[in-house]
Amino acid sequence: MGKPPSAPTTGTPGPVAPPVPAPPVVAAKPPPMSQEKIDRLIIVALDPGHGGEDPGAIGPSGLREKDIVLAIAKRLKDKLNTQPGMRAFLTRDADFFVPLHERVRKARRVQADLFVSIHADAFLNPQARGASVFALSQGGATSAAARWMANKENASDVIGGVNIKAKDAHVMRALLDMSTSAQIQDSLKLGGEVLGQIGKVGRLHKRNVEQAGFAVLKAPDIPSILVETAFISNPEEESKLRDADYQGELVEALATGIRRYFAKNPPLARNRQL
Ligand SMILES: [Zn+2]
Repeated sequence: MGKPPSAPTTGTPGPVAPPVPAPPVVAAKPPPMSQEKIDRLIIVALDPGHGGEDPGAIGPSGLREKDIVLAIAKRLKDKLNTQPGMRAFLTRDADFFVPLHERVRKARRVQADLFVSIHADAFLNPQARGASVFALSQGGATSAAARWMANKENASDVIGGVNIKAKDAHVMRALLDMSTSAQIQDSLKLGGEVLGQIGKVGRLHKRNVEQAGFAVLKAPDIPSILVETAFISNPEEESKLRDADYQGELVEALATGIRRYFAKNPPLARNRQL
């Protein structure tokens, strides 16, 4: 640093200046945006996997994945709906087939803050066991962006709060990539909370949230996870999944994980009036 400039010669206080009357009190400033109370419903989309002609995995004693995940999702919906300020929504509420892209579309239609797909795993080896939680992979995001852009219906859609009517593919691609990267980061946080809670009531297949290119996780603007609740192909876990008490524990764990995620990551105000 150089020498400070010489002190100004004017305005230097000698004897104390006569008191100046205080300016009139100015109205207090409103709090910054971040401190404003966000007063809106949190919407959670629950997606029971499979359905209709697609039974999903089938356990050694005949338990069907599509039935058990629907039962769990319905109970979770009821549980979440008892939370103040939270509303849950099912992508299917009965035994019918819903295409994967339609599940994502349904969640976006209700402006879901979260998407939770519920499944039960299966493997050739009946010893395989434990729950897993997946978020979207970066590779999955890349292919999702390509498909999203190829779809004219999506191209005029609103992504990450930015209304993309852009004809500039580069701009759209960049916005999609940014939005999806943020989605994945949020999904990993959500997945971590959910995995931590499930680990208290059951076994985990993997200790960390895994990442894969599941089509159902590809909404660029909704944190999305896929939960494999247990291995339905494992006779012991099949009977646990069938047990109403264990279902209740799973539902409690999922609800607590979701609640903890929102407590740490409060949703932003809607960019659109409801
Ligand atoms: Zn499944």
